[in-house]
Amino acid sequence: MSKSIRSATAALAGLALVGGLVASTPVATAAGAADRGVPRGDTLFPAQGNAGYDVRHYGVVLGYDPATNHLDATTTIRSRAHRELRTFHLDLSGLTVDTVLVDGRAATFERSGHELVVSPAKPVRGGFTTTVGYSGTPSEHTDADGSTEGWVRTTDGAIALGEPVGAMTWLPSNNTPGDKATYTFRVTAPSTVQVAANGNLAKKIAHGTDTTWVWQARDPMSTYLATVAIGTFDVYRSSTTSITGRTIPIWSFADPSADLPQATRDGLKDVIRFEEKLFGPYPFTSAGMIVDNAHVGYALETQTRPFYPGGVGTSTLVHEVAHQWYGDSVTLRDWHDIWLAEGFATYAEWLWGARHGDQTPAEHFDDLYRTRPDNGLWDPAPRKFIDSEDLFGSAVYDRGAMTLQVLRERVGSHDFFRIIKAWAAAHRHGNASTRQLVALSERISGRELSPLFHTWLDVDEKPAGY
Ligand SMILES: [Zn+2]
Repeated sequence: MSKSIRSATAALAGLALVGGLVASTPVATAAGAADRGVPRGDTLFPAQGNAGYDVRHYGVVLGYDPATNHLDATTTIRSRAHRELRTFHLDLSGLTVDTVLVDGRAATFERSGHELVVSPAKPVRGGFTTTVGYSGTPSEHTDADGSTEGWVRTTDGAIALGEPVGAMTWLPSNNTPGDKATYTFRVTAPSTVQVAANGNLAKKIAHGTDTTWVWQARDPMSTYLATVAIGTFDVYRSSTTSITGRTIPIWSFADPSADLPQATRDGLKDVIRFEEKLFGPYPFTSAGMIVDNAHVGYALETQTRPFYPGGVGTSTLVHEVAHQWYGDSVTLRDWHDIWLAEGFATYAEWLWGARHGDQTPAEHFDDLYRTRPDNGLWDPAPRKFIDSEDLFGSAVYDRGAMTLQVLRERVGSHDFFRIIKAWAAAHRHGNASTRQLVALSERISGRELSPLFHTWLDVDEKPAGY
């Protein structure tokens, strides 16, 4: 998510504190909730997700009418249960659930808050398939910092934006970043509009006055990075060549009212090339952008095809594309490690700026260190916030990037770039934690680095002596 734009919405913080977002509930305690006996995944959003099973694939079939914002949907979810489950839950807020099948047999279900609690006709173990038929008008979701996500209405359709929890407004899912899956989106809408989603466009089928767009996201993806955008778009198709020699197809969608000049579309290729040299091969099978008139006040790194509101600034482009390595391919397992996404993407902006005549990362660091006495940067520390309102606070971005600069100064540029490249390679398409980054950094550099990371990420005060 782009900080420069997102921070504009921080002024709205506190307007709407969404229930159940308090981070202090330990995972072990959350596990005892209700009679499901299934531990949850995340410390910041313990009510989201279900650790009792692992989703392998979402087959999402949507019928959408932009005129009414009505959705008619069937999502088929292939999962694997870690042990026998008599009930399990999916996250789904709003909408009307019409049917739930488990392995083809009707299951009983109930709605409880944003949970769809499913009781199969017989307990599931090992692989099982859940099919949810649902319909209605999806809703937007207001975050603790006052910003909007979920199924966001635009002037000519809608776009799904899911960070951190908004996927539940349109996709019944195991809505926690630690459960990645592949996706197929089959979206049918009037032929007068276009449909973008994650991954590769497999086919477009016209029938009557409608067209079905089939997108395949073959690389694992967390729910918060899934998107579907429906509306009137100019569609740009091109490709670029990876440093591996592989051709990366590019699909970009821009609302006709948006500013997406050729230079910006070429800029995407320049940014991918620049970041591949620093971070290693581009991790996905396609690239692109979605520029839409959803005025949410932030850009978002929706996988393979980031979303930009209205227009695309260069540093925002650099930021969201960097997330394809750090955030999308290597994804935090727990939201308290969000700095692994935002600190790296901010550092990528610093690297790009230095290459193009702006400040060096060391100068960025010095500026922030000298001129930011306010608590926003120092308390809470990047991994120590307890309110989801601080999930996108400046500590996560700026102190996160400062942590990387301190690491670079400690181990030297040579080892630093070996570390961040190895990090992208070692956890490609997976989930990872700060502890694993510390271990990797120590292994590559041969130095003890736990105190450095601890000081910069976990201590609620300005680190001394830098
Ligand atoms: Zn970001």
